[in-house]
Amino acid sequence: MFMTHLECSLTGERYDSDRPQNLSRVGKPLLARYDLAAVKRALTADILAARYSGMSKWRELLPLPLGAELISLGEPETPLVALDATGRRHGARAPLVKDEGRLPTGSFKARGLGVAVSMARHFGVTRIAMPTNGNAGAALAAYGARAGIETIVICPAETPAINITETAAYGAKVYVADGQIDECGALVGKGAAEGRWFDFSTLKEPYRIEGKKVMGLELAEQLGWQLPDAIFYPTGGGTGLIGMWKAFDELEAIGLIGPERPRMFAIQAEGCAPIVRAFEAGEEFATRWDGAATMATGIRVPRAVGDFLILRAVRDSGGSAIAVPEAMIGEAVRDAAHDDGFLLCPEGGAVLAGWRIALDRGLIGKQERVLLFNCANGNKYPLVDTSRRINLAEVEAGAL
Ligand SMILES: *Cc1c(COP(=O)(O)O)cnc(C)c1O
Repeated sequence: MFMTHLECSLTGERYDSDRPQNLSRVGKPLLARYDLAAVKRALTADILAARYSGMSKWRELLPLPLGAELISLGEPETPLVALDATGRRHGARAPLVKDEGRLPTGSFKARGLGVAVSMARHFGVTRIAMPTNGNAGAALAAYGARAGIETIVICPAETPAINITETAAYGAKVYVADGQIDECGALVGKGAAEGRWFDFSTLKEPYRIEGKKVMGLELAEQLGWQLPDAIFYPTGGGTGLIGMWKAFDELEAIGLIGPERPRMFAIQAEGCAPIVRAFEAGEEFATRWDGAATMATGIRVPRAVGDFLILRAVRDSGGSAIAVPEAMIGEAVRDAAHDDGFLLCPEGGAVLAGWRIALDRGLIGKQERVLLFNCANGNKYPLVDTSRRINLAEVEAGAL
């Protein structure tokens, strides 16, 4: 076991990691800290290369005590897929997509919740609640079922039906509320304060980010320990962006990469862009985005408790935060499917559109090595039906 303690991400105050924890005293996320000198002795590139791929490959950099079981649904190492035709369309080097849609429950929420639920079970937690726009609820419910933990999920009314029914299929108690995700989160917080359940809201417990961190560890190894020039990430709560940024620091500390970092691009939809607004205004924290609306439900997050961590990573990396017009999202999904046979989820469409905008604005060079995140399987979302009705008699008469 290499985790030593937890640390407040704002004040640096130290917290024990031997019992369940939520936010720090000042209401900010706690981050897991490790004895990285010991990890460095235990983990080399050769040892990693000899291991089976998957989440537990990275166990020295995960919070679970050695011997405690990582609850798994067979998470694969997700592939990097080159969008060659998309690259040609823009006269640019083909962007690589890290396709997180291959994970159990069809989204990368499986990474974070697999690790967080494993820790909750290790601590003997028996009931967990969270607010969700969809994918997180399904992943919580699936890993909760596997761990024998009761799960309660509260969704905004606009949550796609497929997420609601999938979550319920794993036996979670699902409630649909007439508000935004942060309002559902307030209900979860109230129940947690009354001792009715453990609060699993994004970044309100410290271990989901550790699971998401594996995206950064994995991509570094997949690229031969040479990080890309830029990473485009669909940013809601920002767990994955913050987690990858943390992963790179840990990889440097254990000697697997140097001080170079990708430029981090936080992509949001124009209908919900609190991080972009704060980035452009030079603010350290973001204010709530009222009336949030976008088809990319995974990034419809009006307020992020880790806002300052997202903004810091984006700024320290020399990257940017970009708001994508809604119409460009569906267009990007369609283009990638037609051009490259790759069905992005809407959040992935936003990311591809964000790359297009960055190319236009000169924020990215055409020959740079770029990595785009597709965080869910495109089949989980309603698609436009463009089929035509025919009747068979006409077909026989040669109508096709
Ligand atoms: C949750 C989610 C996001 C946002 O992830 P964060 O790390 O919370 O910012 C993006 N895309 C999809 C498909 C999601 O489910």
